[in-house]
Amino acid sequence: MSYSDILLKYKDLPFEKIFHELSPQEVERSIASGTQEPERLLALLSPTAEGFLESMAQKAHALTLQHFGRTIQLYTPMYLSNFCENECAYCGFNARNKMPRRTLTLEEVEKEAAFIASTGIEHLLILTGDSRTKSSPAYIKECLSVLKKYFSSISAEIYALSEEEYADLVRSGIDGLTLYQETYDEAVYERVHRSGPKKDFIFRLDAPERAARSGMRNVNVGVLLGLSDWRKEVFLMGLHAQYLQDHFGDVETGASLPRLRPHAGDFKEMTEVSNANIAQIIVALRLFLPRLGIALSTRESAGLREDLLPLGITRMSAGSTTRVGGHTIASPEEENAPQFEIADPRDVDAMKAMLVAKGYQPVLKDWMQI
Ligand code: SF4
Repeated sequence: MSYSDILLKYKDLPFEKIFHELSPQEVERSIASGTQEPERLLALLSPTAEGFLESMAQKAHALTLQHFGRTIQLYTPMYLSNFCENECAYCGFNARNKMPRRTLTLEEVEKEAAFIASTGIEHLLILTGDSRTKSSPAYIKECLSVLKKYFSSISAEIYALSEEEYADLVRSGIDGLTLYQETYDEAVYERVHRSGPKKDFIFRLDAPERAARSGMRNVNVGVLLGLSDWRKEVFLMGLHAQYLQDHFGDVETGASLPRLRPHAGDFKEMTEVSNANIAQIIVALRLFLPRLGIALSTRESAGLREDLLPLGITRMSAGSTTRVGGHTIASPEEENAPQFEIADPRDVDAMKAMLVAKGYQPVLKDWMQI
């Protein structure tokens, strides 16, 4: 059985009816209970639970301290290439957008790596567009041979691969994968992924478990908040993370909660996700899966990231740019071609200072390759 079988079972629930019929007593019972029944996650994500956010936040904070302590892992993204063969309606790298495109040479990769490493960061996240010709697995492996000299942990946010390809990357130095399903609603998925290899919903859906089987140490799932009804999306993503935890006990499982940001192109946000909604999502996930890593990226503003920090966040990006070569190389023309606009431009030192001031330990390194 794979997660696609579980999705089949739950995707057509009458979500609207279930969410709106939940009573305050059912929500209170769900907050108090420690079970991992899907019905409990539905209750925690319901509109009725909005009236219990304070008690949910207190419990979420306590669970986060119990499982992660007062620590936040910091990482920095590095874009290797923005060539892409997909037309994802919501993304600035969309193949239809006319923009400067480049793939970093190995010399450029080294220059970016040296700069990021000089900030003290040891956890790197590499990203590419979806192009097997311009940023092939072989190219990514060449980059890893450079990057391994600078970082103790390297994760990838790249197009979906086969299990053998993931295993090959693990042998070459990748230890983590982040792969957003974007939306678990197959009809919306079909509509916003207008063309390209990413249109294969099931191949992408099953990628996190292929990565977990391949020996990846850390696997993160995610939805792009704003594409569809967030309560339903987060419910199905929560079950996906639960599936990974249940089936791959030796793999750290995490979730990311990116919200749609301005970018090049004509796509307009489809559904509203408020700051209070984001807070509810974080506390609901923490109560449902106490050991789940939760990342909050620079898509959100500095103020909001700090407000959400105690609710269950375990990883944050710092010193971010969403441009290829954006740390040391991007030309003024390329400066105008981000994947999306970031809302929190703070560098690593500023993030460290903020965390220390709030009583947290910024963690720059918690693992290294053997
Ligand atoms: S989201 Fe990824 S696959 Fe889609 S257009 Fe952007 S870079 Fe390409």
